[in-house]
Order: sequence, then C-alpha cells, then structure tokens
Amino acid sequence: MASVVIVGGGIAGLVVARDLVLGGMTVTLLEASDHLGGKVARHTVAGIELDAGAESFATRRGTVAELARQLGLESAIVPPSPDGAWLQTVAGSAFPLPKTGILGIPGTPMASDVIEVIGFWAALRAQLDELMLGFVGAKEKSLGRLVRRRMGDAVLERLVAPVTLGIHSKHPDDLDVDVVAPGLRTALLRTGSLSHAVRQLREAAPAGSAVAGISGGMFELVEALRRDLDRFGVTVRLSTPVTSVDSSGATVADGERFDADHVVLATSLGRSEQASIVLATLVVDAPELDSAPRGTGVLVAAGTPGIRAKALTHATAKWRWLADNVGASRHVLRLSYNQAPVDGLRELAIEDARQLLGVPLNAASIIGFDRVEWAAPAAAPDVVSGVTAVGEGVSGTGLAAVVRHARNEAERLLKDIDG
Ligand SMILES: Cc1cc2nc3c(=O)[nH]c(=O)nc-3n(C[C@H](O)[C@H](O)[C@H](O)COP(=O)(O)OP(=O)(O)OC[C@H]3O[C@@H](n4cnc5c(N)ncnc54)[C@H](O)[C@@H]3O)c2cc1C
Repeated sequence: MASVVIVGGGIAGLVVARDLVLGGMTVTLLEASDHLGGKVARHTVAGIELDAGAESFATRRGTVAELARQLGLESAIVPPSPDGAWLQTVAGSAFPLPKTGILGIPGTPMASDVIEVIGFWAALRAQLDELMLGFVGAKEKSLGRLVRRRMGDAVLERLVAPVTLGIHSKHPDDLDVDVVAPGLRTALLRTGSLSHAVRQLREAAPAGSAVAGISGGMFELVEALRRDLDRFGVTVRLSTPVTSVDSSGATVADGERFDADHVVLATSLGRSEQASIVLATLVVDAPELDSAPRGTGVLVAAGTPGIRAKALTHATAKWRWLADNVGASRHVLRLSYNQAPVDGLRELAIEDARQLLGVPLNAASIIGFDRVEWAAPAAAPDVVSGVTAVGEGVSGTGLAAVVRHARNEAERLLKDIDG
C-alpha cells in the first residue's frame, strides 16, 4: 500500500485523508494544534455550543452537501432564513441587500433596492454595462477590476466590497473572479453584459438558498470526519507542528521525521505574517431582536463612521435550529473584525451591535461573550516539487471551494498512483 503524510488537519486535510484512506493508502495526518478542524471549530458561549469559525457553506455544485451525505449528515443540512442580509452604508442608513445579485453585483442595476443603496446616478452608471460590448472587462481576472470597468466604482465599493470583505475577508480587487464566481466571465461573453451574466447564473443555480448550514453547527462535519478517520485507520498526530516538507516526507519541530511515498500539504507553512480576523460572539437576552430587524445580519461598508465591525451575523435569526436551542428572546450575534483590540472588544461589539441592529442593547442584556482570533485567509503555499498542495491558500476561501479542490486533488493522486 502506498503511504501518504498529510500536513494540516483543517477541513482540506481531513477530506483528503478520508478520500485517500478509502482509496487504499496508508494515511498519517499531522496537525499542529491540539484539535482537528482548523477554521471549522466550536466554542461554548453562555453554555451554548456554537461555531467559532465557519457556520455555513455555499450550496453551489452540491460539493459540501455530497460530503455531508457520505458522512451520514444529510438530514442535518438546513437552509438559512430566507430573510437575507442587510447592508450598512457609509452614509449611515441600512438597507436589505439587493435580491438579484451575485456577490453584490446587481442583476438589475436600476432596481429600486439597488438605487436605495448606491443612488440613482451610480445605478445609471452601472446600467451602462448593458450598452458595452461583451468583451469589455471579460479578460480581467480580478473581480474588482471587472466590476469597476463594467459597472463603476459605486457598485464596487458600496455593494460588492462589503459582501466580499464579509464573506472572503478580501477586497474584490484581491479576489480571482474565476474562483469566487466561476462561470461569470464566460456568461459575460455569452450574454454581452455583466448584469445579464449575473441573472443567467442565478437562474441556472439550483432552486433554494445559495448557502446552507448543518443543524447543531458546522463543527459536526469535523466530528463526522474524525469518526471516519478513526474507523478507517488513519493515524492522527495532534500537537505536531511540521516545519518543512519535501517529496518524501515531513519534518516536525522537534526534528522527528515522517517518511512517506506521497506528501500532501494542507496548510501554508511559515506564513504567520497574515493579518488576523477576530470574531466577537455575544449572547444576549433582547426581545427587541425577536423580529430580526436586520434579517440574518448586516454587511458593513468600509469606512462607515463609528462602526469597527465588518459584518454582523444574527445567528439565531439566520438558523431556526439555533433559535430553538437557545430559547425565547435569547439571541446569538457574531461580529467579525479585522485587527480588533484585545481589551475592550466586548464593549466595542455591544456598541457596534446596538448601532447595526438599531436596538437598545446594554451591558445588562449580555449574558455571554467570547473572542476568537483567526489568521486571515492563507496565501498560497510555496510550491514544493512532488508535494500536493490543498486548502484555502490554493483553492480560495470557503468550504465549498476548499472541499471541492481537496477532493479533486485526492482523486488525481489516486489516479497517478494507479497509473
Ligand atoms: C471567522 C471565519 C468564518 C468563516 N465562515 C465561513 C462560512 O460561513 N462558510 C464558508 O464556506 N467558509 C467560511 N470561512 C472560511 C473557511 O472556514 C475556510 O476557508 C476553511 O475552513 C479553510 O480550511 P483549510 O483546511 O484550508 O484551512 P484551515 O482551517 O486553516 O486548516 C489548516 C490546519 O493546518 C494546521 N496547521 C497550520 N500550520 C501547521 C503546521 N506547520 N503543521 C501542521 N499543521 C498545521 C492548522 O492548525 C489547521 O488545523 C470562515 C473563516 C473564518 C476565519
């Protein structure tokens, strides 16, 4: 049996480990921390088990749902509330996110919900997209440059940037359009305009929500993967930080060496200079929130005066199962920050939540708080000859992209070995 050592026990490493052991390989997985899952993690706040990282997955292509099905979690897949998220604008008002868009790119630039956010003249500028030839901007690999050329700055900065910063923690200028919106450039060439392309991709998407969750929490996915790795005999070594890899194995911080026929790198080694993302979770008793005043949450336009959070998720409004778990008038709010302060985050989060939700939260209504810090999305790892790289650094962020890429790479490796 061919052997493989996998470095990194986030979702990418776990998925590859499972596929390779089922493909007949002898698998050893090395994880630096004392637990598996990486950014799919759990924490307990006010006695409630919550996701401390990813809390949903894109349903596009059915990749994560297929994995969940194989792990026996199919019946746990749940849609979010259809209410949708809101946008907090720099000018101070909040509006529901326009309904017909993809990543905030409007399918109908002159729709009233778009005009409400960016104003009439900016919407008119975006509408010019329909008068341009289809090839204008179609070669742009950057989402930001593509949107700017076709629809102008206002759409980019006031609609698209808040969405991508909230979802991918990156400005659209730093995102590869083919990774975050596969098929968009082809649809642009086919239909002749970006707004038509957006509408066509939306129509082609399977019915139902663009994202889904797992009842109980996304961390259930990690638990199920861990159970399978145990069952199929994968050797898992926790608290084992790898310092270097080559095509025949991995070397750990204490000098121990793990030799194997194949090596999979499921993390970016030595890239700790990344900026961080801080998640502030509040559990509050607030009947004012029962009506979900901002739908499933709020994406914040960069530079909004007086607000430091980049996004707020009203988790109990978004997920029915969670609302049922926590009980009446108790709410879970998740606020994400770039580089939030270590001291005073609780007070900052309460103040941001109060402003973003437009309700009078005070310290007495807060029954739980936690701070979790994550490294921002990893850069692509250095290419090491003979080593397979998976994970968000190569696939792009988001469970759908990470899982799909990891499974494709596992399949390719198994085919190579067979060949
Ligand atoms: C706050 C937050 C919320 C998110 N929400 C969503 C969401 O709702 N939906 C969604 O689809 N995506 C979401 N994401 C993104 C998603 O969680 C990630 O893209 C995905 O989990 C990345 O998985 P990964 O396996 O590539 O990397 P990671 O999860 O980062 O795993 C890498 C693993 O490698 C380990 N490791 C690192 N260095 C070493 C070393 N030297 N030796 C051994 N092991 C090492 C780490 O400890 C870690 O366990 C969110 C991310 C964050 C931070």
